[in-house]
Amino acid sequence: SPEPDVDPEQPPAKKHAGDVGVVVQHYNARPDVGVAQRETSPIIGLKSFNNWVKSVLISRFAHPALAASKVTVSRGTGRAASSRGKVLDMGCGKGGDLTKWAKARVAEVLAVDIASVSVDQARARWQQMRAPTFDASFAALDCYTEPLSKAFSPAKLGTPFDVVSMQFCMHYAFESIQKARCMLENVSRWLRPGGTFLGTIPNAEQLLQNLDSLPPDATDLTFGNDVYKIRFEKRRHKSMFGHKYWFYLQDAVDDVPEYIVVWDNFVQMAAEYGLHLKFREEFHDVFSEHREHPEFGPLMVRMKVVDANGESAMDEDQWEAANIYIAFAFEKR
Ligand code: SAM
Repeated sequence: SPEPDVDPEQPPAKKHAGDVGVVVQHYNARPDVGVAQRETSPIIGLKSFNNWVKSVLISRFAHPALAASKVTVSRGTGRAASSRGKVLDMGCGKGGDLTKWAKARVAEVLAVDIASVSVDQARARWQQMRAPTFDASFAALDCYTEPLSKAFSPAKLGTPFDVVSMQFCMHYAFESIQKARCMLENVSRWLRPGGTFLGTIPNAEQLLQNLDSLPPDATDLTFGNDVYKIRFEKRRHKSMFGHKYWFYLQDAVDDVPEYIVVWDNFVQMAAEYGLHLKFREEFHDVFSEHREHPEFGPLMVRMKVVDANGESAMDEDQWEAANIYIAFAFEKR
């Protein structure tokens, strides 16, 4: 294959050591496939479902915080249109949620991720959006060891965020208490009182139950199916942090180190940063609670989670993999 283009003006990408290095390398190396190729993924049903869950979460918990925002930008296009609110997308990846922020009629998005290649792809995706309706700034940052102020100027951070979103990425912070605290500081520091912190993470209870159901003499601590596999390093872990497993998800994640998020511990820590729990739901319950909803039911058909007859696009293995995750929302007080 051809050598990648290297811009001599750019400083060399920062090297990350240890597990973080594995995570960064993995996400940087994943190609940014277009919409058409995405449709051919063997787990497109699951990917669509995850996207639908994020849309439900954003509509229910980010839209009200944005609507109540003091940041309003009037856009002088034919029909009077105004955008409201400011979002921090932490662990933004390749910018998969940019269209969701456009639909939320947001005024400004700040997006950060440790994987600099992904950040460049996210920026390019925003630039390629047809007449982007919001301002956006992108930066590479290890959000679990470095303050957000390292990535954005005081002027950029001057107006507080209405929403901080962390989708499928917060669990990487639970390698150590220092990282989890740095992450929470970054979430809370520039979020306005009344603002929303929302996200999606693996469901520790579910993962640990599966681990416990392995035979007591098992040395290979792996469970899963054809779509996903989880391999724990050890059965028990004394600390609330650093309980490690490797995660494989077909056509998405190749054996990347992740950490258990002990839920009650997370909620208690979040409270120390003024973040109070409003919502927590397993993905299967998000499905059953919203499938008949006047807005989210039809959205499920449009997002190809189910067909017009209500047939799921996921096979059983994908459906099982879907419930590894939970969605949450907190309010800053
Ligand atoms: N939020 C995006 C989405 O929903 O499509 C991307 C999710 S991807 C599964 C996880 C992301 O977390 C990756 O892009 C990864 O680089 C990012 N991540 C992991 N550790 C991070 C850290 N320390 N700081 C910032 N981002 C991190």
